[in-house]
Amino acid sequence: MRNGDVSFWWHTQGVPPRHLSLPESTEADVCVVGGGYTGLWTAYYLKRTDPGLRIVVLEAAFTGFGASGRNGGWVTAALPGSRSRYAKGPRGREGVRALERALRDTVDEVARVCQAESIDASLVKGGTLAVATSPAQDARLREQLEHDRAWGDGEDVVTYLGKAELAKRMNVAAAEGALFSPDCARIQPAALVAGLAEAVSRLGVDIYEATPVTSIEPGVASTPFGDVRAKYVLRCTEGFTARLPGLRRILLPMNSAMIVTEPLSDQAWAEIGWDGYETVGDEAHAYMYAQRTADGRIAIGGRGVPYRYASGLDDRGTVAPATVSQLTEILHHMFPATQSAKISHAWCGVLGVPRDWCAAVHLNQASGLGWAGGYTGHGVTASNLAGRTLADLVRGERSELVTLPWVGHRSPRWEPEPLRWTGVHSLYAVYRTADRLETRKASPRTSPLARVGDIISGIPH
Ligand SMILES: Cc1cc2nc3c(=O)[nH]c(=O)nc-3n(C[C@H](O)[C@H](O)[C@H](O)COP(=O)(O)OP(=O)(O)OC[C@H]3O[C@@H](n4cnc5c(N)ncnc54)[C@H](O)[C@@H]3O)c2cc1C
Repeated sequence: MRNGDVSFWWHTQGVPPRHLSLPESTEADVCVVGGGYTGLWTAYYLKRTDPGLRIVVLEAAFTGFGASGRNGGWVTAALPGSRSRYAKGPRGREGVRALERALRDTVDEVARVCQAESIDASLVKGGTLAVATSPAQDARLREQLEHDRAWGDGEDVVTYLGKAELAKRMNVAAAEGALFSPDCARIQPAALVAGLAEAVSRLGVDIYEATPVTSIEPGVASTPFGDVRAKYVLRCTEGFTARLPGLRRILLPMNSAMIVTEPLSDQAWAEIGWDGYETVGDEAHAYMYAQRTADGRIAIGGRGVPYRYASGLDDRGTVAPATVSQLTEILHHMFPATQSAKISHAWCGVLGVPRDWCAAVHLNQASGLGWAGGYTGHGVTASNLAGRTLADLVRGERSELVTLPWVGHRSPRWEPEPLRWTGVHSLYAVYRTADRLETRKASPRTSPLARVGDIISGIPH
């Protein structure tokens, strides 16, 4: 089994030719820091609407090195935050509904750009299944459905599938039921980010790789090779943000780990089903997420080691053996037909989590400084919407996008260490115990321990 090496996705994609580092100090209209989806989508929409703009993207490693080249490939319309928290914004509940609609439309927007720019990201819009694998999880799904209905989601947005209906789509061992939402697509994430970087370059954006930004001040991003002076400097560094001076407590770099099987046999696929290529997750507190890949494997992810002390990162994504075993156990439990399949590759990455678990998009017109991120694991779709929104903010467009409730949303800071580390590790210890208890007792009620975890974390529901 290969471990680390950034991701399986990059391993199969093959690394495209590298861009040079910044050769010397330069000037631009817009300087984007970070070459993941957020930075590249922002550059894409800015240059498409205003081809005269000089745009520079500065990337510390290579485009797609971060979460954008390592994720589970869910182009999901899930809200990266809490309805009740966003509803406190000036547009109230109606603003939350507008943001949710915009996210659903964005799934199609990603597909549209893939087609328009000839990006072959193996995109299939098969929807998403949240599968309950215990009675307590099933109870949570039904609560979630009630909550969604109370917010106005109809059958076109989310439906409950009983065991028999789920089995028509796929066989998940111990499944009690599932929620199905049509607004999700599966992609090969590195193929998307590679294609996007190519499209952005074609439009005339200058991408500099192996160029770490060491500080951001109004009008200037500094690197070891020189400065980029620009009216607008946009920070698009999500899970890596804590490395920049003064930003240690803004976004917590939460770890997520994945494994992928070798291609499964026809017999295994006949047992599992899954012909609709839905993305699949469970309803555990320490939940899993999975996709059926274009080449007939299952890629499955989960939390693993949730957080490294002092916002530490593991650059190449090496996964602890215990995490590989945990994920393999979940895979075998849910899909017994995978028991004899080898695990080909394991890797991990970081995503950015704000203290109130609500993503944000910001631009200060006076200083020219902006940023977007904190998508809490739902960034593939949200980064496109955030990129379009940042582009509108820079161009002074009074579009509907700039009025959505995550624009200007402010989250509290994370606690200093060692509180931050202790809090996150205790939280996941509590969640894992709650998951074990729920499975063992087969009780139709959420473990009270998990409620304690929710209170510690401030995770919104
Ligand atoms: C394992 C895993 C699975 C996930 N699964 C899903 C999923 O299925 N669906 C979903 O919606 N979301 C998922 N996410 C989250 C999603 O991938 C991210 O939210 C999204 O990719 C964030 O994009 P980004 O461009 O903001 O950040 P990133 O992709 O992390 O890009 C940031 C870039 O900034 C660069 N950078 C950092 N610091 C500097 C600096 N100082 N100077 C220059 N460059 C810098 C980094 O090298 C990096 O390339 C997952 C994340 C992980 C880690």
